[in-house]
Amino acid sequence: MFAAITRFLLLLASAALLYGLTQSIWGNWLSFGTSLAVLALPLGYFYIKLSVLKKYLQADELENLPSAFGYLEDVFFRLQRAALTSKKRIAEVERQHQRFIEAFQASPNGIVMLDNQDQIEWCNSIAERFFGLSFRRDAMQRINYILRHPQFIEYLSSRRFEEPLLIEKMGSGSNLSLLLQIFPFAENHRLLLAQDVTDLRKAEAMRRDFVANVSHEMRTPLTVMMGFLETVQTLELEPHQEKEYLELMMIQGHRMKSLVEDLLILANLESNALPALANPIAVSGSVFAFLRGDAEALSQGRHTFHFECNASVGLLGDEQEILSAFGNLISNAIRYTPDGGVITAQWDRNAKGQGVFSVRDTGPGISAEHLPRLTERFYRVDRSRSRDTGGTGLGLAIVKHIASRHQAQLQIESMLGVGSVFTLVFPAERTVALIPSAQ
Ligand code: ADP
Repeated sequence: MFAAITRFLLLLASAALLYGLTQSIWGNWLSFGTSLAVLALPLGYFYIKLSVLKKYLQADELENLPSAFGYLEDVFFRLQRAALTSKKRIAEVERQHQRFIEAFQASPNGIVMLDNQDQIEWCNSIAERFFGLSFRRDAMQRINYILRHPQFIEYLSSRRFEEPLLIEKMGSGSNLSLLLQIFPFAENHRLLLAQDVTDLRKAEAMRRDFVANVSHEMRTPLTVMMGFLETVQTLELEPHQEKEYLELMMIQGHRMKSLVEDLLILANLESNALPALANPIAVSGSVFAFLRGDAEALSQGRHTFHFECNASVGLLGDEQEILSAFGNLISNAIRYTPDGGVITAQWDRNAKGQGVFSVRDTGPGISAEHLPRLTERFYRVDRSRSRDTGGTGLGLAIVKHIASRHQAQLQIESMLGVGSVFTLVFPAERTVALIPSAQ
């Protein structure tokens, strides 16, 4: 309806203009002026409405559509609908983009997006840390100008990205091992992924060392046994000589047995569930009685023992593991303390409520440089002394493992020529009050 009126007005204005023009030839300026005024009316209206529309679009407040009528109202309405739809689409794309960025940021791996010139288009904060990058500073820099590791430069230029690249010690003075791989995407763009494999590499190295150590520890007694067997087989031996050889072979057999037993203990400790905070162990009862019996059997009267135990302090933990840890510390004290030495084992609660088990000996002591390494598997201060006394080199590793499973600390104090004190400190939560008479 309004559109028709507008069209009619335009037609009328055009006719008036034509009429005015013909009349003006005859000098009727008045008619010409009237025609111009009639034409200016709708044009002025359009001009005003278009400037209102411009302001509306600039203000970006799409809900407040300015009023218009007729043809213009229809145009305004369609414009508003198109603008609202595209605004919604843009918001949705922005949200998606933000979600992708957040997902990439949440990744534990370093991610760098490279364009077809290997320039950095984007990277996450993990990649910034791995490569010493700063996205603000290094955006659109070529990656090979920043990551100058020769292996990486070769990998990048080779364009053979099927296999990942392992870089040990990424960056100067760093121990970071990274597994890098490039994945092409879109038109010649590339995604560089970096995974931190430092712990994995350390674990692999430790496993390799461990297997090498175990093989070595097994091979020594085996070689000795094979030697004896060959001798018994090839030489005509007197019965007393044969007995002697068999006894020596038995010692080697025992060494191998102890080693396998300790290895099994370690393997079990690694796979068993953590000891619960239930089942109080009466240290003064079963544990100390057992330890004393074992100690006396091992010492064979060569040492003086003091076993001091606060019977009212119980320990929450695994009894077998506690026996093994306490037993290892006592057996070490016996094995390394010369005849006539004094060994004191104590169990009590300290002022902080922590459970404290300690073994003090009057043995040779250990010099300070060895102390931090004593709990490493197969670490020994004196290899032959350890072997002669039936040591496997795993005792303190087992103690440390059991301690950490009970959230306890192993502390070692030692003085050359004076003796050593090995102490296990259990958290207060693992100690309970017991009524001694009730045991
Ligand atoms: P081992 O089976 O050789 O005794 P451990 O792991 O129990 O292995 O002990 C590691 C090393 O710590 C021993 O080889 C020994 O040199 C030293 N050590 C442990 N306990 C004592 C101690 N009470 N006195 C002196 N040295 C000790």
